[in-house]
Amino acid sequence: MQIDLDQVGETKEYTSTVCIVGAGIAGLLLARNLAARGVDVNLIEGGGQTLETRSQEIYSAKMEGNHHDGTTRGRFRVFGGSSTRWGGQLLSYTADVFSPPNTVPSLKWPIANYDLEPYYSEVHKIMHVGNDSPELELFDQLEMKKWDCSDVKIRFSKWAPFSKRNLANTVGRECLRSTRIACFLHANATSIEPSKATGRIERVVVKNYRGMSFRFKAQQFVICTGTIESSRLLLASTSISERGIGNSTDNVGRYFHDHISVSAATIQGEAKRQFVRLFSPRLVGGILFTPKLEASAELRSRDRLLAVMAHFAIEEPPGTGVAALREVLQSIQRHEKSGQVIKAISTLPGNLKEIVRLLWFAHVRKRRAISNGAAITLRLDCEQKPMATSRIRISAERDILGMPKAIVDWRISKEEQRTVQSYARIIGSFLNKVGIGPLTWSPELWKTDDSWLKLASDTYHAMGGTRMGTDPKSSVVDCNLQVHGVPNLFVASCSVFPGGGSSNPTFTMMALTLRLGTHLANECIRGVSFPVREQLAS
Ligand SMILES: Cc1cc2nc3c(=O)[nH]c(=O)nc-3n(C[C@H](O)[C@H](O)[C@H](O)COP(=O)(O)OP(=O)(O)OC[C@H]3O[C@@H](n4cnc5c(N)ncnc54)[C@H](O)[C@@H]3O)c2cc1C
Repeated sequence: MQIDLDQVGETKEYTSTVCIVGAGIAGLLLARNLAARGVDVNLIEGGGQTLETRSQEIYSAKMEGNHHDGTTRGRFRVFGGSSTRWGGQLLSYTADVFSPPNTVPSLKWPIANYDLEPYYSEVHKIMHVGNDSPELELFDQLEMKKWDCSDVKIRFSKWAPFSKRNLANTVGRECLRSTRIACFLHANATSIEPSKATGRIERVVVKNYRGMSFRFKAQQFVICTGTIESSRLLLASTSISERGIGNSTDNVGRYFHDHISVSAATIQGEAKRQFVRLFSPRLVGGILFTPKLEASAELRSRDRLLAVMAHFAIEEPPGTGVAALREVLQSIQRHEKSGQVIKAISTLPGNLKEIVRLLWFAHVRKRRAISNGAAITLRLDCEQKPMATSRIRISAERDILGMPKAIVDWRISKEEQRTVQSYARIIGSFLNKVGIGPLTWSPELWKTDDSWLKLASDTYHAMGGTRMGTDPKSSVVDCNLQVHGVPNLFVASCSVFPGGGSSNPTFTMMALTLRLGTHLANECIRGVSFPVREQLAS
């Protein structure tokens, strides 16, 4: 059921068993999961069904430290959240990400890979990427067994089909149909209010765009607002403490991190032909797979490296068939108005020859076609050393709802530079050995000063700020994602990640969210359920 708070005439109080703030990837997944177990949910979403300027402006933030592009260009305040725009690339973390070998102790997670493994197949199902792992088959095809590559571990990420990437269109639709879930749109959580006596959360204060306030009460509350907004909401909730909620040890907002992605080298000439032969994206069962060349646990332990991987960016020249086709598919993913989709489709006939070639490659060769004009770049993506000084704070400046704006102070340490430079040498010699060489390296990569940062950017993988840990002195949530000291408040977001690994984080975040669903459903069975539907009907 969908309720547009902008259309509600009078201020009301709503109750449910669980109240979820944010209908992005985590929020939608959790709502569906809880409803399937018989739990009533109020799902509060700040945006509408399509992206609106007034909603997106609430995400504007001040930048300090390094420029963090994802803060402004890598998150979307709309039903479906950033899944309306994301790449849908999925890859689990390896065991050494949870328990890093000999590197930085604070990277260690309080849970292990096996805690999340039971949820991986469900994530695959939700994203329509099948459950099988053809890594070994692909590995054989790559003939890597012939080469000594103990320092380099090759795995393959899976890409969700374009039509299934936007969760608003899949899980979101199921949520809207569910009689157990009430989805409130244009509903902006501005403050979470605990009871002074018990410390339990009593309500979330929610505002629409007409200046009206609403109260949402529940037994359990879950923040699913994405990394930056999780910290912002906790810090802005000052009804009983000016430090905010869950922040008695001043950890909320700290240890903010992302993946550093470095444009390390270009691959040209004969090396490019060998790259296409070995590593161009493959299709198995209609699913696209791309190779990731990760630093092995042994190498990380020996050279004390952060998690790091090499991958290949394929950039087709603008105006080509690949670019035109991608625009059409992304337009559909973004759920754009039919006029925009038609405009994108109208560019296809001019590229017919190339599109036919693409389809032929996909169906016959089981590969993604790469044009002669495509630029191939070797990129190195690295996790960050956790730093308390890299943080999200709130400013004195307020948004249109009266909420303090976020300040993002993103820091990068020397460890990232050392890891990237060390792994560049290893991956360079590995690629040479397999015939992809010589590479044309970016000269700044090898400098000892900060000029390497010119090659680096974040990857729209914001993490940290409500770090998971067993010790409240250095973390914000526990292993069950419960905010330390607040019995009925949870956070489901990449904001809880102590370390970032090197692969895309959302797959792991989705598994964590499903695990939280099991935990919360068990908690709710022990508690009392509020009659949501009767109340909404009145
Ligand atoms: C272009 C792009 C490509 C990406 N590609 C990949 C990829 O291939 N693989 C990968 O693993 N990751 C990728 N990511 C990252 C991925 O999108 C995020 O990790 C993921 O969306 C996080 O999910 P989430 O539910 O935590 O947050 P979101 O999806 O951002 O959802 C948060 C939701 O909360 C709502 N909200 C926020 N604040 C409030 C509030 N106060 N009140 C009410 N509602 C609120 C928002 O409107 C939004 O709907 C990509 C990101 C981008 C931008």
